[in-house]
Amino acid sequence: MTSEYRGRFAPTPSGPLHFGSIISALGSYLQAKSQSGKWLVRIEDIDKPRNQPGATENILHTLEALGLLWDEEVLIQSQRVSLYRDFLEQLNERGLVYPCICTRSQTKGIPYPGTCRSGINIKKKTRSLRLKTNVDITGFIDQVQGDFHQLLENDVGDFVLRRADGIIAYHLAVVVDDQLQGITGIVRGSDLLDSTPRQIYLQKLLGYTTPAYCHLPIATYNNGKKISKQNHAPGIDHTNATSVLFKALEFLGQQPAPPINQCKRG
Ligand SMILES: [Zn+2]
Repeated sequence: MTSEYRGRFAPTPSGPLHFGSIISALGSYLQAKSQSGKWLVRIEDIDKPRNQPGATENILHTLEALGLLWDEEVLIQSQRVSLYRDFLEQLNERGLVYPCICTRSQTKGIPYPGTCRSGINIKKKTRSLRLKTNVDITGFIDQVQGDFHQLLENDVGDFVLRRADGIIAYHLAVVVDDQLQGITGIVRGSDLLDSTPRQIYLQKLLGYTTPAYCHLPIATYNNGKKISKQNHAPGIDHTNATSVLFKALEFLGQQPAPPINQCKRG
């Protein structure tokens, strides 16, 4: 007997859904439904400064308008922060986490060189908590992108699990929730491909199963720039759901029947 497929869509409520996020929503929905599985929605709102008032309601409304109906109660990450902190504490007790006093400008854009790994000047203020990585290859076979692996200590470095502002890092919350929600397959944009080895590494440390991964191509504008909130992508027009779904299906390589714009009465 095979276990049930369980997929999810996990938007950040930093604005309305745009075409790029619809691709991830629809792709993950279809993957789950094609396997008679469940499709869950999780609101990833722990990075509070990024949240936009009303965005969660707007996202859920858009999904409903598109007919993408979730199968279980929507999970809200901001209601589970104490749970993530417990897992962080477990890793800390196992000696896998250490305080870091480096500033963002010191570490931005480069693999973290392990500056604070062997101890810090206790008079300095701890900024973040980092997870020790290692020199094993961490990788996976993506269903779209193929083999992808990293040597975390060199390619990424020890990464942050609790930020300087006290906020739990995305990677830890995602890994904990995917496990506790029983997610078996993750379909999302390939902009997250690079973070997957970090998440697999955390899954292994916590004794979790690794889901199947499918990283979809990223929707871009004609100039090649990613359609994203950062690039001021417009929100989806709720009133034009058919056209939105048609374009998204085409992007996913499907051959949908053309939308009927006018009903002819005979
Ligand atoms: Zn440091």
